[in-house]
Amino acid sequence: VPGPIDALAGRLPDGAVSTDPAVIAARAHDRWALALLRAVRGDPPPAALAVVTPRSVEEVAETLRWAGETRTAVVPRGAGSGVSGGAQASAGAILLDLSAMDRVLEIDETSLAVSVQAGARGNRLEEALGTAGLTLGHYPQSLAISTVGGWIAAFSAGQSSAGYGAIEDLVLGMTAVLAGGEVIRLAPRPRSAAGPDLRRWFIGSEGTLGVVVEAVLSASPLPGRWAWDAYRPAGFEEGFATARAAAQRRVHPLVVRLYDEPDAALSFGSLGHRGGPVLLFGWDAAQPWAVAQRDAVRSWARAGGTEDLDAAYGAHWWEHRNDAVRTYERVMGEERLFGPGVVVDTMEVAALWRDLPALYPGVRQALLARAEAVGCHLSHTYRAGASLYYTFLYRAADDRAAEEGYLALWREAVAACHAAGGTMTHHHGVGLLKASSLEAELGAGGISVLRRVKDALDPDGLLNPGKLLS
Ligand SMILES: Cc1cc2nc3c(=O)[nH]c(=O)nc-3n(C[C@H](O)[C@H](O)[C@H](O)COP(=O)(O)OP(=O)(O)OC[C@H]3O[C@@H](n4cnc5c(N)ncnc54)[C@H](O)[C@@H]3O)c2cc1C
Repeated sequence: VPGPIDALAGRLPDGAVSTDPAVIAARAHDRWALALLRAVRGDPPPAALAVVTPRSVEEVAETLRWAGETRTAVVPRGAGSGVSGGAQASAGAILLDLSAMDRVLEIDETSLAVSVQAGARGNRLEEALGTAGLTLGHYPQSLAISTVGGWIAAFSAGQSSAGYGAIEDLVLGMTAVLAGGEVIRLAPRPRSAAGPDLRRWFIGSEGTLGVVVEAVLSASPLPGRWAWDAYRPAGFEEGFATARAAAQRRVHPLVVRLYDEPDAALSFGSLGHRGGPVLLFGWDAAQPWAVAQRDAVRSWARAGGTEDLDAAYGAHWWEHRNDAVRTYERVMGEERLFGPGVVVDTMEVAALWRDLPALYPGVRQALLARAEAVGCHLSHTYRAGASLYYTFLYRAADDRAAEEGYLALWREAVAACHAAGGTMTHHHGVGLLKASSLEAELGAGGISVLRRVKDALDPDGLLNPGKLLS
């Protein structure tokens, strides 16, 4: 007897629906450390019904119409590079894989606006923009393994956010498909006062309010020439002052990063780094104002007692900026580079500048209570504050024992973050990992508003259940 999945297959072009267990298994989780740990343990992921790979907005709409009629849950998926369990399969759901919707539709060279399908990966988008002398300037470490839709849904920030902004600064317009199949088109605007910004509802929504199918993004001219300045502040927290000055005094570096001593040892040890923190600035040196601005930042740095380091630190960082993608795969994948029982993960928090001096040690101590090693860098700066990105290594007796301690470590670190006035996530979203802490983050009022919006847009709760609201 043909079942609902056959009915869906009949409504979509041939090949769009697969029930092949290998195809489902390959899309059953993202790169959340715990999902990877469970995979290497051989634990089966929740049993999804099928993978659906649409090629057009209409095919996504048809799929969501079918899902509404059959009350089937839908887990949207870009490239599965998320680290919070947002794209993890749910039992009885279909996995909506947007990766075949990967076309760059139009580059408007007058407005520097690029229209792109949601499944386009970052490296492919950069290639297309590069032919027009442009860049999005959105360079997550995961550039080649993440998509436009995933960036929007998980509130992504790239490594040059100081220069180009994060994803919310780049989204001009968007097309999304709502539960039930209705298509909503939000036209590209540089800014608009026509009511609340509806685009924002989808940024960070993790596929729970709609499926992003296309976006219009704001591009920039490619930098003419990269140049780097590197410093060694007296201490990590002493380095905050220079980073803050650069964020608040209208200079325009493209990259600002400040590493604490353990993270600097890891990142710059191969350059013979002799200890202490490292502060990096990346510039477009072809800009006429670059010399004056670099001099200004240098004088602020020296006033704070920093030492100059070789500019090679910056070039080295740039060259190796995405190496962690492969290392993470080797540690958490089949190879288990550091052996069984080891989990390497990252936590990215943010707070106002005034709260950072308490946030840094607060979260660090909470992580160190269980983790064997913790490094931190200040990774994104704003006029009002900055984000801190911790990398930690947790070791348990074996891969099964690791799960409980890992989850306890996260609970304690999130609590420490909140106690110090921070937000528990700066650019990795919420997902399964942090959904249970969302109320502590938003308060009862915030959660209630979010629930009412969810109920209005997705009354049957079919879109990515459990990923934002637990
Ligand atoms: C080694 C490594 C480094 C990373 N570095 C960075 C970094 O520098 N900056 C950064 O921001 N992130 C980083 N990430 C995290 C990850 O790449 C981002 O969260 C990215 O935005 C996810 O994109 P994706 O296409 O892989 O989405 P997925 O992982 O497939 O999905 C992420 C979430 O978005 C939802 N979703 C995906 N596509 C859609 C859509 N079209 N419509 C609606 N919902 C959708 C999913 O359901 C899920 O909830 C890194 C990850 C790894 C493994």
